[in-house]
Amino acid sequence: MKIHSLFGKGKAVFSFEVFPPKKDSPIESVYGKLEEICALKPDFISVTYGAGGSGAHSRTCEIASKIKHDFHVESVAHLTCVNSTREMIGETLDDFKAHGIENILALRGDYVEGVEPQKDFRYASELCAYIRAHGDFDVSGACYPEVHVDAKNEVEDVLNLKKKVDAGATHLISQLFFDNAFFYRFLERTKIAGINVPIEAGIMPVTNKKQIERMVSLCGASLPPKFAKMMQKYENKPEALRDAGIAYAVEQIVDLLANGVDGIHLYTMNNPTVAEKITRAVETLL
Ligand code: FAD
Repeated sequence: MKIHSLFGKGKAVFSFEVFPPKKDSPIESVYGKLEEICALKPDFISVTYGAGGSGAHSRTCEIASKIKHDFHVESVAHLTCVNSTREMIGETLDDFKAHGIENILALRGDYVEGVEPQKDFRYASELCAYIRAHGDFDVSGACYPEVHVDAKNEVEDVLNLKKKVDAGATHLISQLFFDNAFFYRFLERTKIAGINVPIEAGIMPVTNKKQIERMVSLCGASLPPKFAKMMQKYENKPEALRDAGIAYAVEQIVDLLANGVDGIHLYTMNNPTVAEKITRAVETLL
């Protein structure tokens, strides 16, 4: 099933993101958790992609295939391009196709320190165009409510996003954010730029202190005072912090749904308990 066909049916799309295990762990080590996550029956699950280069796609491919064929939830394989040649991407797409994967989240990827990027793809929009020309895949793209770190300003960033949609992205998934006001302002910019594809809001339930520190340094999401206070109060009480993080995410989602968002993309961090609590709290609201 093509992901774009899930939208416009009078119901917000509810999707999850998972990641493959690290290279030194057997791939089967995540299957139990994935099965529990899939049992929650989200509309689709996307599977992240490692740092790139030759062979990087294989775990993403295997897990996306497992989710689709064994756990019966539609899947999306992430694919990054800065460290790949055209030929490598072509081979990866052939492998995705052979595994029955129909949906790809096309990404530029981050530059890796000490690794000279390849020159075939500079931006995700170039990857979108290549995938569309290469086969019958549905292509999604990433977007940034608080503006991508490399962008000169918010206007250039949204004009670049329009190029990605014009190159064939039929749906967008946002970077995580903790203040919905950023997302609403971003949606206004996309409308002005003539971007008319569905946009899912990326929500990450924060359940431990280390996770938030890593996330904020990686993606630069702003922390509203209300969120920072919660983190401070419960930082040494793991159970309380987990419950507060879940409550915060649920509150964000309720507000987004009440404002008619196209979809919610939940960064599950491979945690079935957290995914279940949030799903149960919002499933009647979708
Ligand atoms: P692009 O869309 O190419 O944008 C990158 C920058 O270039 C932006 O500043 C943009 O404004 C600018 N730009 C774009 N086009 C042009 C143009 N034509 N001319 C000039 N400037 C331009 N990373 C991983 O390694 N693996 C993953 O699985 C992964 N999954 C992700 C999932 C989501 C939902 C999100 C939001 C991010 C994910 N990332 C992942 C991180 C992503 O790879 C980085 O954020 C990366 O820095 C940008 O990727 P992009 O596809 O958004 O790039």
